[in-house]
Amino acid sequence: MFAHPALSVALLCVLNTAAFAQAPAPIVKEGKTAKISPHVYLIPDEKVGMVPNVGIVVGNRATLVIDPGMGLKSGQAVLREVEKVSKNKTVYIVNTHFHPEHTTGDIAFPPSAKLIRSRAQQQDVEEMGMKWVAIFAARSSALTDQLQGSTFRAPAEIFENEKTLDLGGVRVKMLRLGPGHTRGDTAVFVEGENILFSGDLAMNKLFPAFATPQSRLSSWLTSLDTLDKLRPAQVIGAHYDKGDAAMISAYRTFLTTLRDRVAELKKQGKSPDETAITLREEFRNKYPDWDQPLRIHAAATAIYREIP
Ligand SMILES: [Zn+2]
Repeated sequence: MFAHPALSVALLCVLNTAAFAQAPAPIVKEGKTAKISPHVYLIPDEKVGMVPNVGIVVGNRATLVIDPGMGLKSGQAVLREVEKVSKNKTVYIVNTHFHPEHTTGDIAFPPSAKLIRSRAQQQDVEEMGMKWVAIFAARSSALTDQLQGSTFRAPAEIFENEKTLDLGGVRVKMLRLGPGHTRGDTAVFVEGENILFSGDLAMNKLFPAFATPQSRLSSWLTSLDTLDKLRPAQVIGAHYDKGDAAMISAYRTFLTTLRDRVAELKKQGKSPDETAITLREEFRNKYPDWDQPLRIHAAATAIYREIP
């Protein structure tokens, strides 16, 4: 089924394969929206694979929605949650990256809603977006249904590296980072309340996924430096529980320790596969409470390719 080896490894790293067969439909749940600061709400993913953490930032002029889930039904559920906490007519949407569970809910929002996207993420959408929708949809008939008719919403505005949005009484900064998890990784920082939506660049006890051919360790590490400088009080990864700035340093420690071990084994003449298999075991034991250890394999393989 998977003709392209790199793509299948990347896919394994994104799909929660173990939980897949019996998992509930990955649709964002209604009635779970929690206020986490004066202007920010979170619909938690409850660690369901292919459901993102959804952010809603409500100003007195406009509202920003971050990652409205996968497919029309998720987007509609998020829209109903947005209407419970905001009466603003002006609605913006931003996605942390192009993968279907972060983007394909965008189309549920009315035509007046404005999607803001970085140029790099738009390139990801154009080159890989529908391919990933097809791969996700092929996994089960439930996912085929959920992704039926999915398309990518066209951005109303494209930015290069940084865009600040004034929602009225609260300002939000969007930062194009990466390539890390993807080429168009985008983080969202709520100024004043110091809340960071870090996408897949920093998550809580979930191994990082090198999920695209463009994923790079070097730019992942500089992205973490940028996130650290924001001094966030709360950090919300695209998946899993929210935490604080310790999530950023935990990712840095994991990535640099893994890099150093890859370098040692590469120097000893080990092949990419031997290196990845050895380090998958080693780091699974080092991080017993982190999920998705298969991702270590793809990370080690990508790092092996990248370092001298
Ligand atoms: Zn992703």
